[in-house]
Amino acid sequence: MKIAILGAMPEEIEPFLDEFECEKIDYANNSFYITNFKNHELIIAYSKIGKVNSTLTATIMIEKFKAQILLFTGVAGALKEGLKIGDILYATSVVQHDLDITAFGHPYGFVPGSPIFVETDKKLNEIALKTAKNLGLNITPGIIASGDQFINSNEKKEWIKTTFNASAAEMEGASVGQVCHALNVGYFLMRSISDEACESAEFDFDDFMVESAKKSAEFMLKMIENL
Ligand code: SAH
Repeated sequence: MKIAILGAMPEEIEPFLDEFECEKIDYANNSFYITNFKNHELIIAYSKIGKVNSTLTATIMIEKFKAQILLFTGVAGALKEGLKIGDILYATSVVQHDLDITAFGHPYGFVPGSPIFVETDKKLNEIALKTAKNLGLNITPGIIASGDQFINSNEKKEWIKTTFNASAAEMEGASVGQVCHALNVGYFLMRSISDEACESAEFDFDDFMVESAKKSAEFMLKMIENL
């Protein structure tokens, strides 16, 4: 199978590039790293931050490199109580928290022609759960909310959490979900918590991002062994 492994920042895919010898292909102002693992071909890339970059990169991985499933690995800010820095969660569905045409009577996160919540792939989620069980690790399911904003305010955090019942906030997962949904490609989204999305979250992010990114990527490597 051809498997896309996508992160947003270099640190989120570095554990993969350390693990594998890859062929590097430059395309569309980005680099794609190709390697073989077991019976699979891996297409590895980081999109750069935000929904537009991640949409572009996911589309290229599927349309040009023919990825059949897409696994996203990275870090996120915690919204729900109980989620701590270093914890790992996976998305049951994704939503764009900054999509707002409420002026026309629509709910937050809605545009005509798309669902508000885009579901991730149930089979891939089950494989992740099985992998976690085998490793004796706890991974938490939840809704992940994406927007083109770094969330570092209690007020904004509470709003996203209560409006969408979301567990974590980040900046790429929902746009990639939409691409996979439209192109009928199985989507798995995993994030390790780097900060708590509250005031001064940027300081925790700077301190914990590399460690959390590594945790998520290392888990994903184990998960791929079970695919
Ligand atoms: N330090 C970077 C910017 C990081 S933006 C720079 O200066 O270039 C935050 C990244 O981590 C995004 O890719 C996003 O998906 C994720 N993320 C982690 N915590 C987040 C939060 N509290 N709010 C939004 N995104 C967050």
